[in-house]
Amino acid sequence: MKEEMGSILGRVDVGRVLHNEPMARHTTWRIGGPADVLVLPTAEDQIHRLMALIAEHHWPWMVMGRGSNLLVRDGGIRGVVIKLADNWSAMEIDGTVLVAQSGRLIVSAANVAIRRGLAGLEFATGIPGSVGGAVRMNAGAHGGEIRHVLKWADLVFPDGTPRRVTGEEMGFGYRSSRVAEWGALVVRAAFQLSPGDPEALIRRAKTWTRRRRQTQPLSQASAGSVFQNPANHFAARLIEEAGLKGTRVGGAQISPIHANFIVNLGGATARDVLELICLAQEEVYRKFAIRLTPEVKIVGEDVETGG
Ligand SMILES: Cc1cc2nc3c(=O)[nH]c(=O)nc-3n(C[C@H](O)[C@H](O)[C@H](O)COP(=O)(O)OP(=O)(O)OC[C@H]3O[C@@H](n4cnc5c(N)ncnc54)[C@H](O)[C@@H]3O)c2cc1C
Repeated sequence: MKEEMGSILGRVDVGRVLHNEPMARHTTWRIGGPADVLVLPTAEDQIHRLMALIAEHHWPWMVMGRGSNLLVRDGGIRGVVIKLADNWSAMEIDGTVLVAQSGRLIVSAANVAIRRGLAGLEFATGIPGSVGGAVRMNAGAHGGEIRHVLKWADLVFPDGTPRRVTGEEMGFGYRSSRVAEWGALVVRAAFQLSPGDPEALIRRAKTWTRRRRQTQPLSQASAGSVFQNPANHFAARLIEEAGLKGTRVGGAQISPIHANFIVNLGGATARDVLELICLAQEEVYRKFAIRLTPEVKIVGEDVETGG
């Protein structure tokens, strides 16, 4: 399959194609084995062509944005990874509607909106993901969520069909949307914003940024919160009360600053992180009978250990 993908993608215009590309270069955790093929489309027809080829040949595939919510296992990813980041990041504002290609950094979209005096996205000024990842995850912070502002999104479904889907159709939940259930790729999204006072919006965003700097290990490689907050609880507090703050496995550590962050101290493997994830789940369950569900998306294969 790898050879077939390589040879077909070498003959068709789908954007830049990288082979055996270490995913550690593409995730904020700086962890992850190689993807068979990583494709960086720069035009919409390339995205559609690629999705049609994937459907025709039944290749396994996934789409990623900025890799800020991804744990890629050490054996890497079989099939095609479509990366939509700086290669697919144009944006325009028409009145109070901001339309961005899905690779656009949501922070950057939010900052441009704020400077134009448009309110609604300022909650996202500390979220280092793409517009597509934020829509897929219904990213949120400080009481704001993508679902409050998404007007529509252009998707491509796994059979290659494009369709514009409204915010109501997205079935948003806590860090979830129907994008995953559909197995669809977000091409672009439109956000309905409202007029606001730029200075007040900047002040609000700055307060939140300051709070993040004080409470999160932002200078270290991580994927933000590892677990979802269980109903009526904070995952960080449960992990801290289970006595796990600062626990290390290999190059990974449950952050001493924020217990729901696992940081890469240097040279951490996915296996190190997964061990800490299991440890946190086991200890929190043992102490509080509460199951922690990962918020990060765990993808790819383990390294083959051989006989
Ligand atoms: C320091 C730090 C702080 C963070 N703080 C927050 C926070 O406050 N709130 C919050 O919600 N999150 C937070 N996150 C997590 C993360 O930034 C968000 O989940 C973000 O929305 C993920 O976007 P991404 O582009 O990095 O997605 P990726 O990590 O690349 O992918 C995540 C998931 O989205 C899917 N996906 C990505 N792009 C697309 C697309 N175009 N179409 C369809 N599916 C797609 C992927 O397949 C995968 O399932 C934080 C992360 C870090 C590192």
